[in-house]
Amino acid sequence: MKADQADVVVIGSGMGGASFAAGLAPSGARIVILERGERLADSPHARDPRAIFQRGHYRPQETWHDAAGVPFNPGNYYYVGGNTKLYGAVLMRYRAEDFRPIAYADGETPGWPFAYEELEPWYGRAEALYHVRGRLGEDPTEPPHSTSYPFPPVKDEPAIADLRGRLAREGLHPFSLPLGVDIERWLERGKTPWDAFPDTNAGKMDAETCGLASALEHENVSLMTGARVVRLETDAAGRRIERVVYESRGETLRIAADIVVLAAGAVNSAILLLVSANAARPNGLANASGQVGRHFMNHNLTASIAVSPFRVNDSVYQKTIGLNDFYLDDGRGGPPLGNVQMLGKVSGAILKPELRWAPEAALDILTRRTFDFLFMSEDLPSPESRVRLDGSRVILDWRPSNMTAHKLLVARMREALRAAGFPLVLTKPFDRRTPSHQCGTIRMGSDPSRAPVGPDGRAFDHPNLFVVDASVLPTSAAVNPSLTVAALALRAAERVRADLDNRSAGVAPTQR
Ligand SMILES: Cc1cc2nc3c(=O)[nH]c(=O)nc-3n(C[C@H](O)[C@H](O)[C@H](O)COP(=O)(O)OP(=O)(O)OC[C@H]3O[C@@H](n4cnc5c(N)ncnc54)[C@H](O)[C@@H]3O)c2cc1C
Repeated sequence: MKADQADVVVIGSGMGGASFAAGLAPSGARIVILERGERLADSPHARDPRAIFQRGHYRPQETWHDAAGVPFNPGNYYYVGGNTKLYGAVLMRYRAEDFRPIAYADGETPGWPFAYEELEPWYGRAEALYHVRGRLGEDPTEPPHSTSYPFPPVKDEPAIADLRGRLAREGLHPFSLPLGVDIERWLERGKTPWDAFPDTNAGKMDAETCGLASALEHENVSLMTGARVVRLETDAAGRRIERVVYESRGETLRIAADIVVLAAGAVNSAILLLVSANAARPNGLANASGQVGRHFMNHNLTASIAVSPFRVNDSVYQKTIGLNDFYLDDGRGGPPLGNVQMLGKVSGAILKPELRWAPEAALDILTRRTFDFLFMSEDLPSPESRVRLDGSRVILDWRPSNMTAHKLLVARMREALRAAGFPLVLTKPFDRRTPSHQCGTIRMGSDPSRAPVGPDGRAFDHPNLFVVDASVLPTSAAVNPSLTVAALALRAAERVRADLDNRSAGVAPTQR
């Protein structure tokens, strides 16, 4: 289908774009979603860890460069549903404290332009839209919830139930990870973990199966796949976004819209604004502040395998518990460290790319005795950490921060896991070229000289442009970003709906 006119054009069908469309769809506005990727089709590769982790079957044909000019293939996925097609489906709220400035050993976060209470009802709606499974009252850092989770938690497998007990006996507080997975449906398709495995509509609650599916129930919403947006065009004054230019099946096309909603992911959304520079906006769109592309954040992540020679871990998926014992402080009254959660169960085929010299069969024997964890610390926003263009090259100049906290988190967990019966705890930091939790490049704020968009995602420089993906997060916190992206997008949809109503009544839009 081609269209050249819509009330609202949404760029990207990932967590931000799909959730936004779901929120606005009941308004009746004519919404066109332009998505660069295609729907992810089922195939034997979908549950083949060798295809996924060794041959990179689902990775994009794309090259970015680091600050030193070294090319790399980013783990950034272009499908209908975006990165959520491969995500771990941990759908966790930021803690209330994350909205306020936090003092870490290496620096301070700036806080948000509003408090947790403002986003709380939207978190509840996002949990309903993504069918989150969880249980309140287990996590001591849990923020207030006005609604409970729509479904009970995904069940621990026996080895994980045993681990939960052992961690609790060491004085820790393991909690059921809030998850978007219908575990029966997932396992029916194949007995594998879901973390970093593609979802072929087999039980993962992702942007395609939940947000987009809900939006497309409305006749006024349409999705164009294989539609790669290349530029936004403004009026002569550089104020209103007039048209979105995209490439589809070898043609360059334009679509005009009253409101344009950018949700191409934190790297690509910033690039689109920069590449759309014109005579009236020579530094790029929404960039009077000069902040577009800056404050790139991505979490400090370390994978850990804890080995117990005397315990077999026969779990299939494993990823059902988390720990926030070091989230608000270091467990001894010092500055915060971060979150801990299980990884999807690691197998020989998954570990092989990290230990190429080892036979896969030997790694299978090892991983039958490992319990696999992810340690996650906040990445602090810095203007020097940025995505930018060098000609047509995407440069990702990420400056990881807050490493004192991250190293201490790893040390504390090593200690705790040894006490819980794992004499050997191996760790490996995540590859810097894996921008899975990318955010912050078009941050929200109250001051137009320091932020490209306001607290509702509206661009200060363009009243008809909203940004609703992970770009707008002013801080990365130390929990997975998707639920916060969805909650913000649903909230922005409400603002756009008010704009459209006001437009009918002849009232000008206001920043909130
Ligand atoms: C392996 C993996 C595991 C993860 N696990 C978790 C987890 O457990 N919990 C969690 O909260 N988060 C997790 N994440 C992160 C999560 O997926 C992202 O935070 C989330 O998807 C961000 O939403 P977004 O809308 O910003 O971007 P995306 O969801 O990536 O959506 C961007 C969309 O825009 C499209 N697009 C890009 N450029 C263009 C263009 N020029 N024109 C048209 N369309 C375009 C893309 O194809 C994509 O569909 C994980 C990510 C990965 C990769």
